[in-house]
Order: sequence, then C-alpha cells, then structure tokens
Amino acid sequence: MNKHEANDVLLSTQIVIEQALMRLGYDQTMIELLKEPMRLLTVRIPVRMDDGSTKVFTGYRSQHNDAVGPTKGGVRFHPAVTENEVKALSIWMSLKCGIADLPYGGGKGGVICDPRTMSFLELERLSRGYVRAVSQIVGPNKDIPAPDVMTNSQIMAWMMDEYSRIREFDSPGFITGKPLVLGGSKGRETATARGVVIMIHEALRLKGIALENARIVIQGFGNAGSYLAKFMHESGARVIAISDVNGALYNKDGLDIEYLLDRRDSFGNVTNLFPKTITNAELLELECDVLVPAAIENQITEQNAPNLRAAVVVEAANGPTTLEATRILTDRGVLLIPDVLASSGGVIVSYFEWVQNNQGYYWDEQEVDDKLQIMMKRGFEHVYDIHRTRKVDMRLAAYMAGVRKMAEAVRFRGWV
Ligand code: GLU
Repeated sequence: MNKHEANDVLLSTQIVIEQALMRLGYDQTMIELLKEPMRLLTVRIPVRMDDGSTKVFTGYRSQHNDAVGPTKGGVRFHPAVTENEVKALSIWMSLKCGIADLPYGGGKGGVICDPRTMSFLELERLSRGYVRAVSQIVGPNKDIPAPDVMTNSQIMAWMMDEYSRIREFDSPGFITGKPLVLGGSKGRETATARGVVIMIHEALRLKGIALENARIVIQGFGNAGSYLAKFMHESGARVIAISDVNGALYNKDGLDIEYLLDRRDSFGNVTNLFPKTITNAELLELECDVLVPAAIENQITEQNAPNLRAAVVVEAANGPTTLEATRILTDRGVLLIPDVLASSGGVIVSYFEWVQNNQGYYWDEQEVDDKLQIMMKRGFEHVYDIHRTRKVDMRLAAYMAGVRKMAEAVRFRGWV
C-alpha cells in the first residue's frame, strides 16, 4: 500500500475483512460477497434554500449485508462524505452489530453538505428530502437509520415524520436516536460515551491501573468526547486534555470539565476561548494512561504512532487509526480497543430503542445502562479472547468476532 492508499478507509477495511474471513476458514467467494456492500444507492436531493434558490445535494445509503437481519446505521451530514467512506462505514456497522450480537447487518448513509452553514429550515428540508430519496430501500424491517456525525435527534424526528407520512402510519421503529417524546430511548444520547467508559474500565483492569490514578486524553468534544469527559471526570479519573476543531487544552493536573462543558453549551466552542492551547497533533502525543480519539478518521498514523505515550488507546471515533499505525502500536505493547468494539454503545442502545418501539413498552434508564454494560463487556471478553488465543492483533480479533455471525447466516441461507 502506498501512503495515499493507507488512509483509504474502504481499502483498509477490505484488507482486514479478508484476513478475518480467511482465519475463520472461509473461501474467496465469501470474501467477494462481504468485502463490498450488497447495495449502494446514490441520490440527488433538491432543496429549496431560504433565499429562494434551489441547491442540489448528493446523498448515499449503503447496505452491507442483510443475511442476519435488517441493516442498521447512522446518516452523517458532512462536506467530506464520499461514496467509499459510506461503504466502509456500513461494513463497520456490520462488525459492531456482529460483536454485540444484534440481529442486524450494517448500513450507513451520508449527505455531502455543511450543516454549520445551513439554517434550521434548510436542514429540515434536506432531512426530509433525504428520506424521500431513499424511502424505497429503508424501513423498520429493512434498514434503520440513526444519528451520526453532525446529525441529531431533531433531524431523526424530521426523518421519522417524513417516513411516517410516506407510509401513512406512525413508524417510530424506522429510525433510532429520536427525541424521547417521539419514542426515543432513555440513555441513547449518552450511549456511545457510556460504552467507551465500560471499555476504559476493562482496559485499565487488564493494565493494573486504578481509575483514580488514570490520566485520560480525549481528542474531540462532540457527542462521544464531551459525555466521556464528563463521565470520566465524575468517576474520579483525571481528564488532562481535550480538544475540538480549533485546538486542544492541556493541564497535567486535570481540567475543570464541568466548566468546559458549560462554556461549550454557551458558546458552541471551547478551546478558542482560552489563550494557551496546544494543537490536536500535540495532544495525541501527550503522556497518559488512556488516549481516546473521539473525532475523525486517520488521526493515528505511521508518522505519530511511534511517538504516542499512552498505555491504552480506546477508539471512540470510527476509523481513527490506520492499519500501519495499528501494527506499530501493537508491536509497542499498547492495548488498542478498536472502534468496532469501543464505539458500539450507540448502536446497542439504538437496538434497545427499536425493540422498545416494536413492543410499545419503554424501559427506565437503569435498565438500558445495565443491559448495555452486559453486552459491551461480553463483546470485550469475546474479542480479547480471540486476540489471546488466536494470537492476532485486537483489530483483527474484533473483525473476526464481528464478521463470523454474518458469514454463518450467509451460509445457512444458502447464498454462498
Ligand atoms: N452512528 C452510530 C455509529 O456509528 C450509531 C448507529 C446506530 O445507532 O444505528 O455507530
């Protein structure tokens, strides 16, 4: 692989999917089937803008494989969305669902747009337009969307409403991550961060580091990063650095997370309110016990992996570490909890939301948290066990755990 290819998320995913299926004893036909999504829909979405003009956006919905059950995964609104990224993300969703043993395959959607420059009403029209464009291939028993980068519960509400209008009946189970009053689940908003906390506990236990002494560095202050900072701070660990797109804040004695969350809620940004910041690149190389990349892809690369000074890396973002960097960290004895395991809390609670919608019976937050805990721990033990007994790195172990059920389901259905 050359350097450009090394950062190609689809190619990297396909390489590990192939290795995982080979280790599990599957042949080339199974690899051919599962290394690409079974279906990819590209849509053009005309949206009336506030100034009266019409702008046409490009969107995607990728469905990796539905042998296990309906496909499931978020929709992101971001200027850097590409077809290959959406394809890779849908394969990662399959792996998350496989590790957690959910009755789903993976799906993912995206729209090339910048929601930060759009008004509330423009965003509503875009969200509804996306649902109209993909409505034929999605549905509560076909493919169930959810929030992802720069989409939120309001957007899910518009999408649910649009879908319900098209089908002419109320369809809360069409989408997850909804507001509570529209059938959302308690604990969904904080689920990704809660899942990462559970992974940090497991990792620290293995490394023999007490939580009270742990120094945590978090890259990203979005949904996952900010709740994670809050929970780690509340549990007595020291969050020594956080960052957002503008830069990073560092204090070796621990940051005042409550204050930073309050600033973020009031001003939208955090780091640009302070005179003394460090860069995101510097943050990654800080000495710490746990480093959590919770922002975007390809942050830990072969360039900076040799300089990382963390005992554990827990990937809260999707795809933050390249394959070459995975190898370097593994060789250096860093315990890596891969994204498809570490960030699966979101889709696990989305599954709970869908189950509650199907039943019409709603659980309390404790029930959600307890069930999440059980499923995440089981996933961790399974992946760690494969890592130890099959002597493969944690990423390959997670892929093996994640793809096995899907390959078996494909076999039983007689597709391959
Ligand atoms: N977008 C989240 C993820 O990447 C959640 C998906 C879902 O809840 O279906 O895992």
